[in-house]
Amino acid sequence: MKKINILREIIDNRLCVGCGSCFSACLNNAIMIDLKMDEGIFIPSINEDLCADCGRCVQVCPALEFDHLKLSCFDMNSIESSDKLIGNYIKCYVGYSTDQNLRKNSSSGGLVSELTRFLLTNEYISGAILAKMNALNPLVPEPFIAKSENDVLLGAGSKYCPVPMNSILKNLGKNKENYAFVGLPCHIKGLRKMQINNRLYDNIKFSLGLVCNHTPNFNSLKFIMKTLSIDVSSVKSIQFRGNGWPGQMNINLKDGSNISVPYFSELYWGFVNAWFFWPLRCTLCKDKINTFADISFMDAWHRIFNSDNIGTSLIIVRSEMAESIVNKAKIQGKIVLEEVDSKMVVDSQKLQDYYSTVENRRSYLVSSNKSLKDLIPVAENSRSNLNLYSSLFYFRNNLSQKEKFWPTINFLRLIASQYKKIKGHSNKL
Ligand SMILES: Cc1cc2nc3c(=O)[nH]c(=O)nc-3n(C[C@H](O)[C@H](O)[C@H](O)COP(=O)(O)OP(=O)(O)OC[C@H]3O[C@@H](n4cnc5c(N)ncnc54)[C@H](O)[C@@H]3O)c2cc1C
Ligand code: SF4
Ligand code: SF4
Ligand code: SF4
Repeated sequence: MKKINILREIIDNRLCVGCGSCFSACLNNAIMIDLKMDEGIFIPSINEDLCADCGRCVQVCPALEFDHLKLSCFDMNSIESSDKLIGNYIKCYVGYSTDQNLRKNSSSGGLVSELTRFLLTNEYISGAILAKMNALNPLVPEPFIAKSENDVLLGAGSKYCPVPMNSILKNLGKNKENYAFVGLPCHIKGLRKMQINNRLYDNIKFSLGLVCNHTPNFNSLKFIMKTLSIDVSSVKSIQFRGNGWPGQMNINLKDGSNISVPYFSELYWGFVNAWFFWPLRCTLCKDKINTFADISFMDAWHRIFNSDNIGTSLIIVRSEMAESIVNKAKIQGKIVLEEVDSKMVVDSQKLQDYYSTVENRRSYLVSSNKSLKDLIPVAENSRSNLNLYSSLFYFRNNLSQKEKFWPTINFLRLIASQYKKIKGHSNKL
């Protein structure tokens, strides 16, 4: 079988996350990453005429299962995972940036931006690979290299839509400058595969990983705009999160007005994003916690922080180098950091349930489509029966795929909203 056909199978079976690693790995420029707005995802297209079937693209694709041991020894302390729920780690901390403005306008505690700024200003790196929204096309994100403090602030905040982060790596492999890379678990996994298989990117010295439950596809944003009767062409800029914690989405219009959507409103993460607009690949992802990053960053979703309205993050520090950096930043007064038990991370991300749920979804998918068997290994003890949970899961996935079903989602949203009102439900934990 031709090697490139494996990449085709990944794309055809909707297992691609649009990370851009294959684009960067191809020396023949046979791959382009296209934004398919109707499907709401980035996806590669392959030019047969340029392809030499070398297989480099397949080697770096994070959608394929990987050699866990080979990757986990990468810049980490031991080959054996020190914790089966959170992976290798040295210490876990809770903390935030001491820059109140940054803390308020970042996603949680502003630690990613503060530490990136620390690495830049102390010349550990000459650039940081971050994500921002395109200035001309404000609904479309892009990776960029931040070279200054201002650039770092431009990248602050989560972008809850697909970002082809690894496409920016194409020309950086042999560059003499040192970089930090911020990314989701699939981005970091792609990067690690490129570092191991292509023997490139030694110059990416730090990887700062975001925890990720899933990335809603672009249709989620379209859905929000449509529900709020916002004409897409009237949008000047969009901020997915900011203005305190848990914060809100801010949509700035060209006429100077601003529309905000609270983070936990039913139109956003309180219902629609939590249940709908999931890319298929995300339903099968086993690395929510970003095992291969030097540091994993997440919201401190824990009842202890219920009264916080500025922002706090939990972090898992996995390498000695990262441990030294966070301590230096703490000593210099850039961040507040306090060691916590790993159980707080496990509880805040509900990791106990997460792994078994993902295994069951994988098992169900493979049992209903045998051709995926080689692409998605399934744990022996997982349940393959279509239980009530899986039925609901696929029902809601199908609803979000076609615009004609969106009124149904809105109807369900209103029911959810009424239900919460009757129950006096609070989204605090
Ligand atoms: C799609 C997505 C899903 C997430 N899911 C969870 C979750 O389930 N649980 C949880 O606790 N936390 C989750 N997070 C992480 C959380 O939202 C915060 O990013 C994290 O707590 C760090 O906050 P901060 O204030 O330190 O980051 P900030 O200082 O605000 O910096 C955020 C950094 O992330 C980069 N970035 C933003 N969006 C993306 C993107 N899509 N791809 C690559 N880089 C990006 C920015 O360039 C910036 O450098 C998710 C984030 C994203 C983007
Ligand atoms: S097989 Fe090789 S040449 Fe063909 S698209 Fe992949 S990386 Fe490029
Ligand atoms: S490398 Fe990334 S963009 Fe390319 S096929 Fe795999 S997941 Fe998709
Ligand atoms: S859930 Fe996994 S595959 Fe989906 S965006 Fe997050 S890290 Fe990538």
